[in-house]
Amino acid sequence: MCGIVGVYGHPEAANITYLGLHALQHRGQEAAGIVTSDGDRFHQVKRVGLVGDAFSRGALAELPGHLSIGHVRYSTSGDSSLRNAQPFAVEYAHGSVAVAHNGNLVNAAELRRKLEIDGSIFQSTTDSEVIVHLLARAREPDIETRIVNALRSVDGAYSLVFLAESKLIAVRDPNGFRPLLLGRLRDSFIFASETCAFDLIEAEFIREVEPGEVVVVDSKGLRSFKPWPEASRRFCVFEHVYFARPDSHIDGRSVYRVRELLGRKLAEEHPVDADVVIPVPDSGTPAAIGYARQSGIPYDFGLIRSHYIGRTFIEPQQSIRHFGVKLKLNAVKEVLHGKRVIIVDDSIVRGTTSRKIVKMIRAAGAREVHVRISSPPTTHPCYYGIDTPTRSELIASSHSPEEIARYVTCDSLAYLSRDGMMKAVSLCGAPEIGKALPGAHYCDACFTGNYPIEFKPGTISSLKRIVN
Ligand code: 5GP
Ligand code: SF4
Ligand code: MG
Repeated sequence: MCGIVGVYGHPEAANITYLGLHALQHRGQEAAGIVTSDGDRFHQVKRVGLVGDAFSRGALAELPGHLSIGHVRYSTSGDSSLRNAQPFAVEYAHGSVAVAHNGNLVNAAELRRKLEIDGSIFQSTTDSEVIVHLLARAREPDIETRIVNALRSVDGAYSLVFLAESKLIAVRDPNGFRPLLLGRLRDSFIFASETCAFDLIEAEFIREVEPGEVVVVDSKGLRSFKPWPEASRRFCVFEHVYFARPDSHIDGRSVYRVRELLGRKLAEEHPVDADVVIPVPDSGTPAAIGYARQSGIPYDFGLIRSHYIGRTFIEPQQSIRHFGVKLKLNAVKEVLHGKRVIIVDDSIVRGTTSRKIVKMIRAAGAREVHVRISSPPTTHPCYYGIDTPTRSELIASSHSPEEIARYVTCDSLAYLSRDGMMKAVSLCGAPEIGKALPGAHYCDACFTGNYPIEFKPGTISSLKRIVN
């Protein structure tokens, strides 16, 4: 998973990009990068780590220019070293070009093999670099045609921003798996993965880049075209469930409202007699509010999250039980003691965190613990840019909800149905999308195994397994 930003025509393009990336930090915490163009030359800074740490004031001062693209990385393919950080900038026969990619290509390994046989030398192990090599080989005179032709051989999920010396080009794959939005800040155009980036820089949201659309911004202004045959829309439903920030509007909807409605549907489908509803913060919070509102059971904060765990994991010699989860979450005994507790979370991946949380809540004196999940069981890995573990590590791929309940040691556990999830998403916002057939316009492969684009084995060079 990644976040991308593009800025055209702003005197402080690097600073605006930096702030946009800051707002998109939740989409990737491994590395951050910005490439600017002063109309003639490129300037770039890429670092491992968080946006706030990666760019000092001095580093940003070294990024002059009115055009800029930026990226926060969360590795779905390739390891997490600096050489895999984006944007990728290269010099080639036509000048300079840089690209920032959110998504994952399903035929990258095959394309890379072919390119290497033809003499391409790769600097990184990511699938995104394949796009740059394809582009460097294209012979068409203008960059937008080179991009379109390069992308003809690519399959999968891609929201992209390209930078040339004096042009910015944004592209979304024909299925529109990942979000990409267009905004305006006075005379400049801004692209970003989510509207929360526009809010921070006080840019006005104009519209989404549409699936299959290529938007070009240069001195002539903004123009757009759709060079590929129309495909069915397949926006990632998991962006609504977990990934996007709840204060964002994507896919024509408020992510917060969708999550709250997911919680309400969950309460309708899986009621249970209890004294208090608590969220697993932060991702489970809006759904827990919805569950509490729908059920009439009081809502409270039974778990407090530390936002400062950072990267240091120094554990004392004498072992502390559930140390990892305790660093991040702690139970509020006053809320939980003697109570029948409902905990609401957005998803269960491996089940290890859920198990530790249930034990922590019991240790705080809860009488009963009921787990409610605001999405269906995650049974299949994602090949379109979300960092999920392999199938065998997904607990729901091989265990029923009853078995998972036993593993996490709760009194009951229930998931929202696929229909309930799709109804919640469809009911929130843009009526033309999903009205006829709820869910028809979404990818839900991690919950159903219905993959809209076939994955070619061997594509993802190394799936990182980070879950919290
Ligand atoms: P588990 O109980 O399976 O160990 O962890 C579940 C938690 O992982 C949930 O709170 C959920 O918000 C979080 N989660 C779900 N998907 C992802 C993901 O793709 N990446 C990360 N880092 N966390 C995730
Ligand atoms: Fe989103 Fe799941 Fe589809 Fe991946 S498989 S794009 S996470 S809905
Ligand atoms: Mg969570």
